[in-house]
This record gives sequence, C-alpha cells and structure tokens, in this order.
Amino acid sequence: MSCSGPVSELPSLSAALDALRRNEVSSEELVSELLRTIECWNPTLNAYVYVNSEEALACAREADARRRAGDPAPWVGVPIGIKDNICVRGQPCTCGSKILKSYRSPYDATVSRRLREAGAVFVGRLNLDEFAMGSSTETSAWGPARNPWDVDRVAGGSSGGSAAAVAAGMAVAALGSDTGGSIRQPAAFCGCVGLKPSYGRVSRYGLVAYASSLDQIGPLTRTVRDAALLLSVLAGRDPMDSTSLDVPVPDYIAAVDQAPDDLRGRCIGLPREYFAEGIEPDVAQAVKAAVADMARLGADVVEVSLPHTHYAVAAYYLIATAEASANLARFDGVRYGLRVPSEDVLEQYERTRAEGFGQEVKRRIILGTYALSAGYYDAYYLRAQKVRTLIRRDFERAFQQCDLLLTPVAPTTAFRIGERISDPLTMYLGDIFTVPANLAGICAISIPAGLDSRGLPVGLQLMAPALEEARLLQVAHVVEQTRPRLPRPPLASRASGGSPA
Ligand code: GLN
Repeated sequence: MSCSGPVSELPSLSAALDALRRNEVSSEELVSELLRTIECWNPTLNAYVYVNSEEALACAREADARRRAGDPAPWVGVPIGIKDNICVRGQPCTCGSKILKSYRSPYDATVSRRLREAGAVFVGRLNLDEFAMGSSTETSAWGPARNPWDVDRVAGGSSGGSAAAVAAGMAVAALGSDTGGSIRQPAAFCGCVGLKPSYGRVSRYGLVAYASSLDQIGPLTRTVRDAALLLSVLAGRDPMDSTSLDVPVPDYIAAVDQAPDDLRGRCIGLPREYFAEGIEPDVAQAVKAAVADMARLGADVVEVSLPHTHYAVAAYYLIATAEASANLARFDGVRYGLRVPSEDVLEQYERTRAEGFGQEVKRRIILGTYALSAGYYDAYYLRAQKVRTLIRRDFERAFQQCDLLLTPVAPTTAFRIGERISDPLTMYLGDIFTVPANLAGICAISIPAGLDSRGLPVGLQLMAPALEEARLLQVAHVVEQTRPRLPRPPLASRASGGSPA
C-alpha cells in the first residue's frame, strides 16, 4: 500500500456503524481506506507507534463474513485505535517507554475485551507521553505526535496520538486515558471530542497504572454522539477492578438522540477562578461566544466559585507523582520488559531503570518518593489529600447551584514543539483547568469551540457531577450543534501525502 491519490474523509463512528449495518461499505473497505490514510499521514504525524495492517485486514474480512452470516453484534468490523498504555492481547503495549519496548500484552484490558466482544477491529497502538506523564506527547520515547492543524505544534498529551489520529482521519474513534486531562486537552488541541468519565464508571483493568486514584479510560471521537456510543460499550462494573462502580449504566445514546433543541431549564455555572489571568484572549473569546449561544438557547447562566482551584495543580502533582512512584516500582528488569543484566540484583534494578525510563518519568518517581518519605509525608502527601477533599467539596457546592460547569480546557491552544519541554513547571501549570475534575472524580468533556486567529482549534470543557455522563453528553450535544463545524485540518485536507507544509 502506498500514499497516492486523494485521502477521502473518514466517516464518524456513527456514520461508519450505519454504513456497515446497511451494507453500504464493508469492514475490509473501511479498514483499507483507514490504513491508506495512516500510510499517508502517519510518517508526518507520528500518531501510531504500531500498526497491525495484516492482522487488522484479516479481522475485517472475518467481521464481514460474520456480518453476512447474521451476527447481530453492533460493532462488527468497526476499526478502533487504542492508546499504547491499554492492553490488547498479543499486541505491544510500550507506554511510550524504552522499558517496555519489546513487551506484548498477554491479555486484554476489560475495555479491549468489551470492544472485541462487540466486534471492533484493533488497527494499531497510539502514541502517548511516557507512561502518560506529560501534556504534549513529547516525553514519548518514540518522538512527539504532531498536530494535524500545524505540524510544528504539539498534539497535546498525554493521549496526543489518539487525538491526532482522530483529527486527521487516521482513526474512526480512539481510546485514551485521563489522569489529569490527558483525554480532554489533546482533544481540545486537535479539534475533536474527548470524554473523561467519572472515576469508577469504566474499568481500569488492563490500563497500565500511572496514578490509580485518578486514572480513567475514555473515548476520543469526532462527535459527542460518537463519545456516547463508545462510552455505552466501555461503561459498567468489572469484578477485575474493585474501584469500578456497581451502578446502572444509563442509555447514553438515547440521552443524545433525545436531546431537546434548546437548553431551557438547564443552569450552567461559570467558575470565576477559571477565567482569571493567564488565558489567551482567543480562548476566553471562544468560551464567551459559547456562553452567549447557550444563553440564547434558554440556559440560565450563573457565576459560581471553586475557591480552591488555585491549589489544584500542586495537589495533583503531589498525589499523581506519589502514586506513580509506587506503581512504577514494578518495572525492575525482573518481571517485565527491558533488563540490563548484572551479577548484583540491586545494580540490575538500577541499571535497568536508569536506561529504561526517560527524564520526565525519573523526575516524577523522585518527586513522588520524596513526597511519601517518612519525614515529609505529612507536609506534602497528607496535605495534598486534604486539599483534594476541599476541591471535591468546592464542586459539591457548585453543583448545588447549577447542573453543569462550563470552562476552557486549557489556557492556550496548541503550543510549539519544544516550547515547554525544558520547563516542567510551565508545562504543569497548563493543566490547571483539567486536573480538578480528576481530583474530584467527576466527569468532564472537551468539545471543539472553533478556531483561534492562527487557525488552531479551541476546546470548551463541560463538567457534571459524578456519574452524570448522560446529562453531560446531552448538553454537550446541544452545545456542539451551536458551534461552527470545523473544516478538515489543513494536513488531512491536502490531496495526498508528502512533506509537511
Ligand atoms: N498532564 C498531566 C500529567 O502530566 C496529565 C496526564 C494524564 O492525564 N495522563 O500528569
């Protein structure tokens, strides 16, 4: 297969499901077109770190046969891209790290199993920051993913590969993981939809743990309806993850399909602290325009306060690094992946970890170990946990005054590759609007608001109380209809491959 001829626009997940059901397209055709697009754009965008073309085509043919034989499973033959920290049996799972370079998963994550049972085809593994630690996909050992709207800019992170692939038409839909914004921020930077479900809504079994009390798997898609479709397959109790909740899963697709045309009766809160200094004017303007449209549709818009927002980044980077330092202890050169052998076992641990982990991962292990050490535990980790409780209470109070919150996703649009990577603090501060939802365990979605004056996508974030994904998706769908439809990104709209402009 080579990159020639025009790259046609890939259907959305909803459209792909419909076309397959009506036999207007076969899974083999769909997957072939997808692979051709990957062939054209992936050398530039570096969104996929592994593509299993032959296996995916074989699965697609098998799916077509199953469909012809009357298999009623809804997703038979639908290609899905998976972030490279979510296990798919027999496929690599490198987590963007040299330490897992030659590792292959012996089992499916629960989300992969659910998708497989629904009939999905796994086309490849999507790039990410190493162990999902980052906001730009620049900490990946396999090089940064690039933004299809401007290939000199980051795709965001850590699910940058997932977002770039969906935006460039190299995936119908993808899975990402969100510990502090890793689904929502890259979705915003690349102009797609990203949903972080409430903590416990989706099983984490088979997601390589970064910070277990914050991690959630969720969809990156072209539309809100597509996110609802994916969530309906992913959500639900799993005995393999004790933190997954045993509560009914609402009909998310119905919530979107039965959405009213307006927002009458909905109260939308604007948290004062999210509109303070440091936001790019174009980002503030995009949020304001959305607020005006929502008010026009009958929403009641009120100002609310989340007074502890200011402490969220500090609390997050203490808790996340503390948990990471414990979770990453398992990569010792004995059980998984890379081993740098030595006669002495301690030296073997040290050499393996020194060689296998990148700089950002090492920084976080050191920070987290320090925060948990006997002399500093009370001053850092314990205090951060107390702040986490205050942040959760802020949201509880705010949701007594409104149904949903509307905020920017990030203070800026996509920044240039290299611009922040040597300044971790600046990088961390960019997570200010996304980490609070993880600390509080609530659900949040990022949807495209429009383009800034440089032609880069701007995201809007909606947040709802824990387990209120149906409400979140319904309102997000209504708001989505009011936003200008984004054109195809400049890269993907060009006739065929070649070097980036
Ligand atoms: N940017 C945040 C971090 O580096 C969030 C990452 C994530 O959600 N996985 O920790």
